[in-house]
Amino acid sequence: MNCEIICVGTELLLGDILNTNAQYLSRELAALGIGVHHQQVVGDNPQRMRECMLRALNESDMIILSGGLGPTADDLTKEICCEVMGERLVLDEDILDGIRSYFVSRGRQMADNNKKQAYVPENGIVFRNANGTAPGCGIEKDGKLAVMLPGPPRELIPMFENEVMPYLAKKTGGVILSKQVRTFGIGESNMAAAVADLLDGENPTVAPYAKDGEALLRVTARADSKEKALAMCDETIERIRERIGEYIYGIDASSLEEKAVELLLAHGKKLALAESCTGGYIAKRITDIPGSSAVFECGVVSYSNEVKINLLGVNPETIEKYTEVSTQTAAEMAEGVRRLSGADFALSVTGISGPGGASEGKPVGLAYIGFSHEGGTTVKELRTGKKENSRDYNRYVTASTALHILIDYLNKKDGE
Ligand code: AMP
Ligand code: MG
Repeated sequence: MNCEIICVGTELLLGDILNTNAQYLSRELAALGIGVHHQQVVGDNPQRMRECMLRALNESDMIILSGGLGPTADDLTKEICCEVMGERLVLDEDILDGIRSYFVSRGRQMADNNKKQAYVPENGIVFRNANGTAPGCGIEKDGKLAVMLPGPPRELIPMFENEVMPYLAKKTGGVILSKQVRTFGIGESNMAAAVADLLDGENPTVAPYAKDGEALLRVTARADSKEKALAMCDETIERIRERIGEYIYGIDASSLEEKAVELLLAHGKKLALAESCTGGYIAKRITDIPGSSAVFECGVVSYSNEVKINLLGVNPETIEKYTEVSTQTAAEMAEGVRRLSGADFALSVTGISGPGGASEGKPVGLAYIGFSHEGGTTVKELRTGKKENSRDYNRYVTASTALHILIDYLNKKDGE
């Protein structure tokens, strides 16, 4: 099966927003073994949309449209696509109820034009929208298939993964299953180089992604049963593990913080934090995870030296001799907050997130991360290498590195 992606929206043509949906859909379709032959972008203009769809349907088995499913008058994708496919739009009362409750649950009144979103193709299939009001839909006719998805990526991506993928899997025959291999500390290009031969595979496919300082591999297999697809994924993951096993921190884990909380729970251990340059970022990420109260003892944002000394018990001579951004201070911060809280583990961070604060031998992006546990204290020196406009990035990556130190320790304990 081959396919064409059509992204609808004048804002895309004006350069107001980046067409990330095209990239996302192309990558996902390739992983499903569906060849994408063309991509088009068209504005919210009925005549040009019509021409665009007709051309695409003439050349491809399937068109996937993103955008133009909103409630306003310029959102016309469904109307035009139904017209082109020769399909009638009918009101779906259940969807209308769903849209009404969506507004009620947010304490808002449903505007009249939202009713438009409850119209669906008479003989089509509806894709539920768990993150907004516009449902997606699909029409199959005369050997052609049209799939319509909402424009906002936070709606389109979950809809594609949860609703459209299983639907397309049936079309392409069999079951499609994906697993995500999450790595930390290797970098996308080194990771891709280590598994280069696997990236050329057709089934399973292996696709690399980089996200906020992390590198991931998505392994997708097609087979005639779930068990077979799973076994194919697992076999490929084993080959990946042989090459870059030391960097893998989780399979299908959703984030470093979730993995950290999961491991702390499994080990029945508690964590405390002493954060200087990350200013509570690690604590925020840990407490984002439901259930973290069972494993998180406390976090101290010890920005000033007085707090490092008076609360955490860092020796003033340590700061005098080595400065506050040093291995020694990080170690004493971690030990101090562990003592203070009685937690099993403590992480500490002291560093320079920028743009100012750098000095000889201490560039922006430098951080010392202390880790205190029953067996002693270690300190990792991190250099993100980023200087300009990188305060947020430096803090995020420093927090990620700290979380990974804890994960790595607990994962290794599991392996013992
Ligand atoms: P729409 O479904 O046309 O109402 O789109 C609503 C919003 O989704 C737009 O204002 C954009 O912020 C976003 N959006 C639409 N199309 C795309 C796209 N191709 N890539 C990324 N974001 C998009
Ligand atoms: Mg639009």
